Amino acid sequence: MLRILCKQLYFWGHKSIKMNNIILFGPPGSGKGTQAVKLAEALNLCHISTGDLLRSEKAAGTQLGLEAKSYMDKGELVPDSVVIGMIGNKLDELANKVDGFIFDGFPRTAPQAEALDNLLEEKTTKIAKVLALEVTEEEIVKRILARGETSGRADDNDEATIRNRFQVYLNQTAPLAEYYKGQNKFVSIKGEGSIDDIFAALQQAVSN
Ligand code: AMP
Repeated sequence: MLRILCKQLYFWGHKSIKMNNIILFGPPGSGKGTQAVKLAEALNLCHISTGDLLRSEKAAGTQLGLEAKSYMDKGELVPDSVVIGMIGNKLDELANKVDGFIFDGFPRTAPQAEALDNLLEEKTTKIAKVLALEVTEEEIVKRILARGETSGRADDNDEATIRNRFQVYLNQTAPLAEYYKGQNKFVSIKGEGSIDDIFAALQQAVSN
């Protein structure tokens, strides 16, 4: 099932309304997916999860899905060109029809962050905030192994793969914090505690 949850606004003249775009940042298992759904609902944003998009492609057996599978099953990143192309298509399809986007699991590399800025600029919009959920590695491993009991995801079951995903995050994704700090958009949020408390902290960060 393709999980892009957004209400598209078709009425004439909507293009002039400024979009509000947020990145939910953090390691795998930090709660981005859970919180993105809640934030999208609360702020009327369109939730785009590259992990969900890639899993849909995999399940549908498309060329893109087949290419992505080998990387995903090992906990490695799918090549930038594939993911950026996929996001570009989604933005072409949806920009100016929604109030804005909440990006979950994207960008994950410096080229993806730069490409996203360029793609949004083409749509005369930009990222407003990057909300980073901070969770320790041990908590991540515990959470993902628990999720693996029901998620059916190949990359959620093996501890070595989960630790590799965390290392990939530290090496390739965590450095993006500096990119967004340089743009004055980065907000760090404690990602451990109750779902409701973390959600409240995210909402507070959005409204500040
Ligand atoms: P996620 O559901 O966000 O944990 O993503 C699951 C897997 O999909 C990752 O381990 C990667 O293999 C792949 N993936 C998701 N988003 C991206 C991205 N932005 N760049 C590269 N690979 C990605």
